[in-house]
Amino acid sequence: MVKKILSSLAFLVFFAGCSSKQWYKGNTHVHTLLCGHADTSPEEVTAWYHDRGYNFLCLSEHNQFIDPATVKMPADKRDDFILIPSEEVTGGDKAHSTALNIDGVVDPRLVQPSGASKTQVIQAHVHGAEQQHGHLILNHPNFHYSNTAKDIRPVEGLHLFELHNGHPSVNNFGDDEHDSVEEIWDDLLTDGMLIYGVSSDDAHHFQDLGPDRSNPGRGWVMVEAEALTPDAISEAMYQGNFYATSGVMLSKASIDGRRISVAVDEAATDRELSSSFVVGHVTPGGVEGVSIQFIGPEGRVLETVQGTKASYSASDEYSYVRAKVIHTRRVENGYENFYAWMQPVFTDGRMHFVK
Ligand SMILES: [Zn+2]
Ligand SMILES: [Zn+2]
Repeated sequence: MVKKILSSLAFLVFFAGCSSKQWYKGNTHVHTLLCGHADTSPEEVTAWYHDRGYNFLCLSEHNQFIDPATVKMPADKRDDFILIPSEEVTGGDKAHSTALNIDGVVDPRLVQPSGASKTQVIQAHVHGAEQQHGHLILNHPNFHYSNTAKDIRPVEGLHLFELHNGHPSVNNFGDDEHDSVEEIWDDLLTDGMLIYGVSSDDAHHFQDLGPDRSNPGRGWVMVEAEALTPDAISEAMYQGNFYATSGVMLSKASIDGRRISVAVDEAATDRELSSSFVVGHVTPGGVEGVSIQFIGPEGRVLETVQGTKASYSASDEYSYVRAKVIHTRRVENGYENFYAWMQPVFTDGRMHFVK
């Protein structure tokens, strides 16, 4: 009997060890010399991220598939670094999307079907990624203010989009006439869409650095996955097991039932924010330090905690609640804000089926 209990315990310990998830840092969107308007080869771009501790990278070229097997890896490649086969499906000014973890190039007929509306173009991109056994991330909706919530909401099977993109021309924060991408996200979530927010840098320029250049390191995701493989990372993102960041790192980002718990990893955040690559969102006013907001339908802030740790239990009153961490520091012309965005917890049962 004792032997039986011991062997069951050993099995449980073994099982728990096997199912332990880990956090992986990655960038889902970057360009190379192959597109004709970026400045660095696929190998050197790969080395840039490898050498800075990223765990995964998507070489997402405009309507071209870069097979990772053709990319020479750094000579000192770490075991915890992979490329995920991807493409930026680029449908002119109607929509751009990252087809994540695909088997090959997306059918060119689905890139921008003639006469298609923006909604139909995004829908075609979703189908194109599915045909190649991948998932779709709608990219930078505010680039030329191309994709509004109205364009995005009717698309079926779209569960990921770029909430933040490091390219200087993508209008993450909107303007007097246009919503910020975060406002678009809350519109979609309020209207019942199951959609998660990604952050990427969309870098094109690695040789020439400056605020008006499209440099790397301005946005990334932290994915909690069972393993560091293209399938495990892509599925974890599709299930919303990640957070998006422009520099803030978390030591805790968990959702247990309806309870959201968040804590800032201060040492890791200080390390990221001391890099010359991160770019904060500058605002004229602000308060230095860290605050955590819990946000519900219509973008309403339900609770704000000043400090580096907080938790919140979502009630039936709100169909979703999400956490946003804001790290603010003083700069010459005002205040500079960096963010981490957790994915929402839903109380209305919205969910999708695992592929
Ligand atoms: Zn693009
Ligand atoms: Zn791009």
